[in-house]
Amino acid sequence: MASTRTVAAKRSARKSRARAGDKSIWTERKVRSMRILQIPVLAKLPWLVHGFSAKPGGVSDQGGEKVLNLGYTEWDTKESVLENRRRFQSALDASDLHLISLQQIHSDVIHLFDAAPAELCRGDASATNSPGLLLGVQTADCVPILLVDPKKRTIAAVHAGWRGTLQRILVKAIGKMQMQYKSNPADLLAAIGPSIGGCCYEVGTEVATQFLSQFAEAPEWFDEFRTGDEPNPIQWLNMMPPGHQPPPKNVLLDLRKANRAQLLGAGLRTANIFVSDLCTACRRDLLFSYRKEGPQSGRLLSVIGIR
Ligand SMILES: [Zn+2]
Repeated sequence: MASTRTVAAKRSARKSRARAGDKSIWTERKVRSMRILQIPVLAKLPWLVHGFSAKPGGVSDQGGEKVLNLGYTEWDTKESVLENRRRFQSALDASDLHLISLQQIHSDVIHLFDAAPAELCRGDASATNSPGLLLGVQTADCVPILLVDPKKRTIAAVHAGWRGTLQRILVKAIGKMQMQYKSNPADLLAAIGPSIGGCCYEVGTEVATQFLSQFAEAPEWFDEFRTGDEPNPIQWLNMMPPGHQPPPKNVLLDLRKANRAQLLGAGLRTANIFVSDLCTACRRDLLFSYRKEGPQSGRLLSVIGIR
């Protein structure tokens, strides 16, 4: 009887981890009606705060549903966003930390902070070794990446859509951590949060061409690598006159794979990279997706800070 219960408990624990993302690495914390995704290895560090937000909970009204929208959008009020941020920080026991979120512009601009800036900064990554700051990345499909150097007590938060990935923002952020804080990439822990997956992220073949021009291994990140210049063999097989069956314009891009490759290329160890397998477009119950919801989409917030 006792052993049956243990098996059942283990099974249900496995289930809840699976729901949170990667089957063995991610955990989900429920606080009030909010759900926060975390990495146990990072959660163990007493001086560190981290978390990836999800959609449920919060005070924002998105078509009659209460959601935790953590970014300023046209459909939501500033008060609601501020209240959501307050609740999210409180759930992380990080109310006393100063949240720094950037005006994200799909660039490779990285800011190093030793104090909270007086004005909103434009850029897509931030890093610090100062306690009291909470670095944030807002996303609704793009890839949020949190970096931690447990030895030097240094952290970074990176926003990587396809443009940022193409510009190697993650590699550059790690380079800044090496230069500024003497981090060794082999010591770094990296969490790649929920984002649109290779199952759903359609891009034009011109994006594939740009990736191939920058990365030799780019074809591994697409479902079927095409640049749009290939002859279309189906036309010949079907004896269709040319022009009747143009090759499909879109391919599927796996941005997580591309960013994981950048981490490995920068010198991180495989065991220190944690990738969520949650897709924002597939899991609209749990996450926000700009591709699926358009301007009515909310924003997820991924944060990291030093207490
Ligand atoms: Zn998907």
